[in-house]
Amino acid sequence: MPANRIQIETFFRGIAVSPGVCRGKVLILERGHEEEPPRRPIAAERVEEELARFQRSHAAIRHQILQIQEEVRGKMQSKELEIFDAHISILDDPVVLEETVRMVREQLMNVEFAYHAVVERYAEALAEVGDDYLRERAADLRDVCLRVLNHLLGRDQQVDLQHLTEPCILVSHDLAPTQTAQLDRNMVLGLATDVGGKTSHTAILAGSLRIPAVVGLQNISLELTSGDYVLLDGFNGIIVVNPTDQTLYEYGEIVRKREDLQAGLLESKDSPAVTLDGTRIIVAANIEHLSDILAVHECGAEGIGLFRTEYLFLERETLPTEEEQFNSYQRVAKAMKPQSVILRTLDVGGDKISGVFGMTAEENPFLGLRAIRFCLQKPEIFCTQLRAILRASIVGNIKLMYPMISGVDEIDEANRLLESCKEELRSKGVPFDESIEVGMMMEIPSAVLMADALGRRAKFFSIGTNDLIQYTLAVDRLNERIAHLYDPAHPGLLRLIQMTVESGNRNKIWTGVCGEMAADPALVPLLLGLGVTKLSISPIAVPAVKHLIRCLKLSEARELAEFALSAESSVEVLARSRALVQRIAPGFLENHSASI
Ligand code: PEP
Ligand code: MG
Repeated sequence: MPANRIQIETFFRGIAVSPGVCRGKVLILERGHEEEPPRRPIAAERVEEELARFQRSHAAIRHQILQIQEEVRGKMQSKELEIFDAHISILDDPVVLEETVRMVREQLMNVEFAYHAVVERYAEALAEVGDDYLRERAADLRDVCLRVLNHLLGRDQQVDLQHLTEPCILVSHDLAPTQTAQLDRNMVLGLATDVGGKTSHTAILAGSLRIPAVVGLQNISLELTSGDYVLLDGFNGIIVVNPTDQTLYEYGEIVRKREDLQAGLLESKDSPAVTLDGTRIIVAANIEHLSDILAVHECGAEGIGLFRTEYLFLERETLPTEEEQFNSYQRVAKAMKPQSVILRTLDVGGDKISGVFGMTAEENPFLGLRAIRFCLQKPEIFCTQLRAILRASIVGNIKLMYPMISGVDEIDEANRLLESCKEELRSKGVPFDESIEVGMMMEIPSAVLMADALGRRAKFFSIGTNDLIQYTLAVDRLNERIAHLYDPAHPGLLRLIQMTVESGNRNKIWTGVCGEMAADPALVPLLLGLGVTKLSISPIAVPAVKHLIRCLKLSEARELAEFALSAESSVEVLARSRALVQRIAPGFLENHSASI
């Protein structure tokens, strides 16, 4: 437990990623690691108590290690079991223990600080010797120390996300998309993490689960304690610990205003998004789960522009069979008929890792075995999905889309496998839509540069700006420390979007945008001005984006885009774009916080 629990109203600022306000008790899932535990003075009469605490934690970790060793005995070779013996002798090292006790007694300090200091001194000395064996022992020493510290600091309580018993605001150092996808909406009122960016899949999922969320809070997981009372503002990216009555009242007003505005927008949700000068823009929805279909119907979206099908795979112990996938795809096709559903083939890897695929950790997962690269290396998994999609295509209006295409070889290979699946189904007399449209995500700069050739092979381009931004600007979409550099208004990015649209036009195919950028009111005019004709966004953002389009003249959007393409920095682009929105829809920007 942190030494000093926060007593007064305190504000923390992070990155707003999922709108909404909630308040409740904090539940810490996983804490980040402090460089070193804080040093606290101990009164002389408290020394024995402090040492007894140390003894208890030491004994508990000893018990834990022996217990794990027992559990895995029989499953591991005896050589591997020796690691546990090594950890016990590190834990029991008399020199470390005696020095720690001496420091506490003589310098009247807390035991966490003393133990960490002693261990670090030895670990550093070992690591400095140019010997691999000793370097590994230094790592073992630190590992054992961390376990004891976690116990001393109360950081090691396990939280079972599947069985939460009371509503909470979940606070964690990080949260994987697989964990987020399984959250119980009735129990998790809000989410706050130390790390993360606006377009991390955890952020996107929180949005579709409608759980207010703030990421990039740096070390909120260390500052807070389970049971703290907080207010979470997912519109502005703020956490307020111990909010005063005045703060609660002000937030009540904000929420009421937002609800009124959203209710107003919902009244016209089913009207098409036609600009003032008569151009119809299709606004579809992005989904991750079948359960999102209801939200799609309720928001007035025109079909599903992106179904991230990997979520059907990520939350399981075994791969879904062709039959299971077929059932899911036909359910969504039926539910949306006659509107179209774009099923994106598996996009695993990056921040979406699952044991079900036998994936191993990579140094740079976003530059690694991801999406189409993974599928082409695992044709049996890919073809099972392709067959299931093809079979479902007769039920409704299904289109198929490949993620992360970087050049013609990948799309040619994917299409070759698709043709072989079609042939197999034909030979068995299994029906499917012979004219199913196959498009691709445009999310890697090399693909944009090859768009003319790719456009001859695809029926549509859907620009995945979440990735296109990170790969163009070399800015990790998950990293809160460089979140300010993740810049959707960067003229370089806008040029890539324009190049894609022009290649699409030359090939007589449509170009849409399905990244989070398409939900940002300040950026929508730019996208339309660049010639994008379809947007696919989170359901919750659909009514506002449709409304904004109805306030806009395409001719003005084109002028804006022309200016942006010749601009040298995003600052002037954003200023001009925001001014346009401010003029055509006063107050809109303030009241519809962007998801990016
Ligand atoms: C994108 O990259 O913009 C996109 C929509 O795909 P994802 O967010 O799933 O990577
Ligand atoms: Mg992507």
